Amino acid sequence: MHKSSTRSDYASQTVNGTTRNGSANPPQPSELFGLNVFSLSVMRQVLPKPVYKHLVAIQETNAALDPATADVVAAAMKDWAMARGATHYSHWFHPLHGLTAEKHQSFLIPTQDGGVITEFTGANLLQGEPDASSFPSGGTRSTFEARGYTGWDPTSPAFLVEGRYGKTLYIPSVFLGFNGHALDKKAPLLRSIDAISKQAIRVLRLFGHDATQVVTTVGCEQEYFLVDRELYLKRPDLMTCGRTLYGARPPKGQEMEDHYFGSIPERVLAYMEDLEVELYKLGIPVTTRHNEVAPGQFEFAPVFERANIATDHNMLMMSVMRRVAARHDLACLMHEKPFAGINGSGKHNNWSMADDRGNNLLEPGNTPQENAQFLVFLTAVVRALHLHSDLMRASIASAANDHRLGANEAPPAIISVYSGDTLTEVVEAIIDGQSAKAKEKTFLNIGVSNLPPLPLHDSDRNRTSPFAFTANKFEFRAVGSGQNIARPNMVLNTIVAESLGYMADGIETTLKTETDFNAAVRSVVQRELTAHRAVLFGGDGYSAEWHKEAERRGLPNLRTVVDAIPAFITPRAIALFASQSVLTDAELHSHYHVKLDTYIKMLSIEAGLMSSMGATQILPAALEYQSRVATAVHRTEDVLPSTTLIGQRKLLELVAAAIERFIARLQHLDRARAAVPETDDHRIVATYFRDFIIPAMQELRAAGDELEVLLDDDLWPMPKYRQLLHLS
Ligand code: ADP
Ligand code: MG
Repeated sequence: MHKSSTRSDYASQTVNGTTRNGSANPPQPSELFGLNVFSLSVMRQVLPKPVYKHLVAIQETNAALDPATADVVAAAMKDWAMARGATHYSHWFHPLHGLTAEKHQSFLIPTQDGGVITEFTGANLLQGEPDASSFPSGGTRSTFEARGYTGWDPTSPAFLVEGRYGKTLYIPSVFLGFNGHALDKKAPLLRSIDAISKQAIRVLRLFGHDATQVVTTVGCEQEYFLVDRELYLKRPDLMTCGRTLYGARPPKGQEMEDHYFGSIPERVLAYMEDLEVELYKLGIPVTTRHNEVAPGQFEFAPVFERANIATDHNMLMMSVMRRVAARHDLACLMHEKPFAGINGSGKHNNWSMADDRGNNLLEPGNTPQENAQFLVFLTAVVRALHLHSDLMRASIASAANDHRLGANEAPPAIISVYSGDTLTEVVEAIIDGQSAKAKEKTFLNIGVSNLPPLPLHDSDRNRTSPFAFTANKFEFRAVGSGQNIARPNMVLNTIVAESLGYMADGIETTLKTETDFNAAVRSVVQRELTAHRAVLFGGDGYSAEWHKEAERRGLPNLRTVVDAIPAFITPRAIALFASQSVLTDAELHSHYHVKLDTYIKMLSIEAGLMSSMGATQILPAALEYQSRVATAVHRTEDVLPSTTLIGQRKLLELVAAAIERFIARLQHLDRARAAVPETDDHRIVATYFRDFIIPAMQELRAAGDELEVLLDDDLWPMPKYRQLLHLS
């Protein structure tokens, strides 16, 4: 009891933003961890044993929850939540566009006699009905049948979110149409986890293991920028679009490279400390915090978890990061490219597979047998990435991420795999093993002679690789900082599931004629690594030579959203997702439409705002400055002979010419905006935005930035980069 009162005191202290400095005995992280989570351990305490056991079984087998059990769970959940001050509940889900969505419902139900009761039934827990018509479905649902429903995902625990005056119980959910179509990103992710489990188990069985479930594990490193909130509020572009649409490079950008891993400014550390407390309460295991490459840029990384939980936690973490920033008078920017000319932000998605005993299937083993199994999993990933790199690229395509990919700071848009220096040698040796002359390399004999124990902590890093093997996991580095990781992980799980199935088939078929199991594995691994070696690349991903080489190897280089998104609806993709029961043809088309639609909307908002900021903020300031210079020249001419004012006249000419350029480009952008093709074909419209609107925006920006460096500082209508990037 005593403990819980300390905790709630503490919770209310941090809600209004005061720090823990005031409290005599700040609670330990271990006391706070999971305080606001209706976790399995809470359930074990509050649920009758059979109900608890049933729930655990459901989490392991993804079976459906029956209504009677749901009633018991709901009642316990409500009591737990209300005892902690919750007044409302909300199904919380991942719609196809944007990040997460929620609709709050009170626990209170009015009664006939003018009183109220509180109610939360199994039916309320299992199913919610947001007004689905306002969520994009990309055509899988017409408005006359606009109903969709949210359903509790019992594999992810419910949690409490603290508002200023009350708390809300959040129920992680999937969002489906009544026809069963997934209208969200979570349902397909869960299906993909099932798919990979099925195929991975087939491989494990071949190696004599009796695992019943395989899960994918994900840990993502979240990069972000912090800017002073007061400055942020003076930048309509940051507020509306999350990025600066204008802004000249500061005299000191990141040239000095003195920020990375440098000491964390006190104000930022206070933010991180406060944030960590909030994240611990939600059971989010953040462990690492440090400065990133650009000034004002930082990173937070949690310990990895099951992919579905990691996805929920990353979304939740992003929203808490924004909320806590506000109470420290900061704004947290998750956009992939808030500042031109300064490094953007990504989200390294560390990914692996583990069996139900917790064995990491991408951990090289100590014995030849273990290594052979490891190599089968590795080969499956390499094959998957080679065959479906277009889908991986499409899974992280967005207008914002286009600024990063291929800009020599993030991985290039060409998806290749880097296996780490030591492993690369092994892989190459296996491939060469096909030819007689490389046979002497005895360690090629998987499972027979000694494949050397692979180094466990091969810390080789190739920062330019989009998909790198790092010791015992793969790191997909092209994911954008602001994105939901559900989709890239769903794609990755699906393509690897297909490949694992293919490997299992291959080994089984070979075993019909080959009695030696190890020989069968070796031949399949060799054959597949050889067939898919084109995707392996350990060199500089930024170099022009690689772009040429990649083209020669037939690797797609899908530079923009418009190039990448059609990968979702190729016959190959449709067959692949159907074969793994992850997405139907209609669902893939809806991903395609929603992605392109979001691209178009994002760009039209940016272009519109750019035009209005140009016309109503920059142009008036520039004209004012021009008039001041003109007046100064004119007045001075009254006193001094005009031949002594050559420089000043030249300045006036420069300003006038820059203003003319700015006006011309502003008009050009406005004409382009007025000429957007009127068609329902998203691809045509998106292509138009890419080919006409974006270039017009870039030109206008250049003219605006030119004015910024000419004008009187006091006249410039918004905070400049050097102010935004400097946190004191
Ligand atoms: P770096 O910045 O050097 O890439 P970090 O230590 O910052 O490495 O991040 C590594 C991330 O990888 C962490 O989030 C960690 O939990 C995650 N990770 C480690 N092992 C696994 C695994 N088996 N599966 C998924 N993610 C993992
Ligand atoms: Mg990393």
